[in-house]
Amino acid sequence: MTEVYPRVALIGLGLIASSMFWAMKRRGVVGHVTGYARSAATRDTARRIGLCDTVCDSAAEAVEDADLVVLAVPVGVMGDVAAEIAPYLKPGCTVTDVGSVKKTVIEAVAPHLPEGVHFVPGHPLAGTEHSGPESGFASLFDNRWCLLVPVEGAAPEAVETLTTFWQALGANVELMDAEHHDLVLAVTSHTPHLIAYTMVGVADDLRRVTDSEVIKYSAAGFRDFTRIAASDPTMWRDVFLNNKEATLEILGRFTEELFALQRAIRTGDGDHLHAYFTRTRAIRRGII
Ligand code: NAD
Repeated sequence: MTEVYPRVALIGLGLIASSMFWAMKRRGVVGHVTGYARSAATRDTARRIGLCDTVCDSAAEAVEDADLVVLAVPVGVMGDVAAEIAPYLKPGCTVTDVGSVKKTVIEAVAPHLPEGVHFVPGHPLAGTEHSGPESGFASLFDNRWCLLVPVEGAAPEAVETLTTFWQALGANVELMDAEHHDLVLAVTSHTPHLIAYTMVGVADDLRRVTDSEVIKYSAAGFRDFTRIAASDPTMWRDVFLNNKEATLEILGRFTEELFALQRAIRTGDGDHLHAYFTRTRAIRRGII
């Protein structure tokens, strides 16, 4: 495969960045990859496992020759990282991010980037409940969507090249606007994570069922449903603080539906329960 970018810099070396690195190397998509993470322990781990061709001790050093800079840090620090790297970016390079929220990330990052640098925000819809530099794997993006959210006036060539890059990493690419992205993700990812965290909290609070019983008797329901509640707390705190409007809207609707089901159970309205489960099962069965 021909090289899409000669030099790539990964800022943040967790699940997403490490998976990108292994996917880039698998497909020979890029030339040289530099990496930087704020924590020295993460940088040491990255060096030990061969994550990145060069692990740098500063973000400035990592980005200075890069043709593509990927911000793969928690959503809440994207703006700070953009401010830190801005003076060192190569003119004409592309900056992208992989943040799970788009509107506030764009607002936080765009003002820091100098003229002549292309900003093409993105979000690969792929992940696991694991985090850190050792959690990544090359096939994470295979046949998954990567949404690109070009800002107004974005250079079409920069969007096209980043599209080719993500396709080479195995993903299918679509363009979307930031507000719609945040609403869609509030439904498909953010609110489900909140509910999974809550279910674990409820089980923990229920003194008549011990934690060890929950673990021991965690049959399909609890185990499947709460897997995502093992995800990184910093990442998810930042997602909710940055996607307030959409998650509150979806949470409001969720609560209404839950109350309706609660009422149906209390009043013995089996028809309501059956009709509801029939309709939602049909939708769920449509998801492969
Ligand atoms: P992670 O916790 O595995 O890694 C985060 C990395 O960022 C770590 O290496 C950490 O050291 C580094 N970091 C934190 N603050 C920093 C700073 N100020 N400067 C430099 N490095 C810093 O997280 P992840 O799962 O790889 O998530 C990264 C981004 O990708 C987040 O914005 C998240 O919303 C998004 N995302 C995550 C998933 C998922 O399922 N985990 C999926 C898609 C997108």
